Amino acid sequence: MCGVVGVYCNDENLTSKITYYLLFSLQHRGQESAGIATFHNNMVHLHKGMGLLNEVFSQEILNRINGSSAIGHVRYSTTGESKIENAQPLLVKSKAGMIAVAHNGNLVNYWGLRMKLENESRVFLTDSDTEVIAQLLSNYLLKYGIQESLAKLDEALIGSYTLTMLINDKIVGFRDPLGFKPLCVGEADFGYVIASESCAIDAVGAKLIRDVKPGEAVIIETNNVEFVKIAKSNKKALCVFEYIYFARPDSIIDGKSVYEARHNMGRILAKESYVEADIISSIPDSGITASIGFSQESGIPYLEALIKNRYVGRTFIMPEQKLREFSVKLKVNAVRRNVEGKRVVLVDDSIVRGTTSRKIVEMVRKAGAKEVHFRVGSPPIIAPCYFGIDMSTREELIASSRSVEEIRKMLNADTLAYLSLDGLLKAVGFDRKELCLACLTSLYPVEVPGERCCG
Ligand code: SF4
Repeated sequence: MCGVVGVYCNDENLTSKITYYLLFSLQHRGQESAGIATFHNNMVHLHKGMGLLNEVFSQEILNRINGSSAIGHVRYSTTGESKIENAQPLLVKSKAGMIAVAHNGNLVNYWGLRMKLENESRVFLTDSDTEVIAQLLSNYLLKYGIQESLAKLDEALIGSYTLTMLINDKIVGFRDPLGFKPLCVGEADFGYVIASESCAIDAVGAKLIRDVKPGEAVIIETNNVEFVKIAKSNKKALCVFEYIYFARPDSIIDGKSVYEARHNMGRILAKESYVEADIISSIPDSGITASIGFSQESGIPYLEALIKNRYVGRTFIMPEQKLREFSVKLKVNAVRRNVEGKRVVLVDDSIVRGTTSRKIVEMVRKAGAKEVHFRVGSPPIIAPCYFGIDMSTREELIASSRSVEEIRKMLNADTLAYLSLDGLLKAVGFDRKELCLACLTSLYPVEVPGERCCG
């Protein structure tokens, strides 16, 4: 997770505020820290802090950091602890100038690269893989232009890296050749914007131009936008979990509507695993769209069994297990009137650790449900993600070593069914070769030590 943005604005007083609004629309991608870097008078002005965007920025701070170009970041930590030093954008000063980098993704070869740079006497101020990217890039920029430097960077890095960068006054967006994480570009009357998701582009009244393609860079300089092919690859590995869970349903990613994909997941799930029931309910919020699809296909009415407290962050993206368990109780409550004496189907987008799902089944039973059936809009997550999502060990994943029946017993559900892999592919409308499915298949699109690569 993490959200990245970039802005070119022809009114210097608006740039940081537009960046703030873009990030605000991507707050679901990271809630641990936020930061904005602007370029003004040959200097990068940076402000970042821990917490939500509105905790980190005030009107006064936004007034202070001006300039016509900016990048921004909201963070959810994967490599590197959740601490202020690791908040982004990261800034590097060298003879090549000032470079600020915001990163969504995770490098598989981070430690090897870092050791190599440390052996060359480079000093690191953080334990984030983004600093390796920033240091390498500043090295390359001493010798090469931007395009050649990005090509060199691509040769060095293994893993997922969607980047927005300030290279002096230029704004650069870059997507790794497999395109794990999304990036798109929009145009508005004030200039150009780059963002992880199109919902952010909509939020600032801009018009989506198009997605940055895998291996492509977008370079924005004084109201001129240029797309440049940097790296070639004969395959793609778009993260399928963007469609299942991460992205906002109002976003369009790589030409596909996230809402439509999720709705299809629910419809196909209903065909694959219909069950006699009185109501269908989602696990709010990310299960809503799939549960509507399930209800429409099955003909079973949609009714809310659970109500979400909207002021609690997403439980999945709290970094510590203890906090995660605690926040489930704060997050949802059962609607007794809707579930008492009923056969209830609960639809969720996915099950990661299973702790939230178990507590929710228990909550709905306690509220008087006669039967609780669990339906999941994705196949079981059986393997860790090394590309930017915090589910890093197999032991943490409930489905890595258990059958569906064993999981059903652990959740205490009357029945449990997952969407099939074929059903998922049909729902998102991509060919298998275009997607990363590693956490569902245990076959990785790049070499990861100790794991099988699908070539
Ligand atoms: S392993 Fe799963 S979560 Fe990670 S990039 Fe691939 S599809 Fe996305």
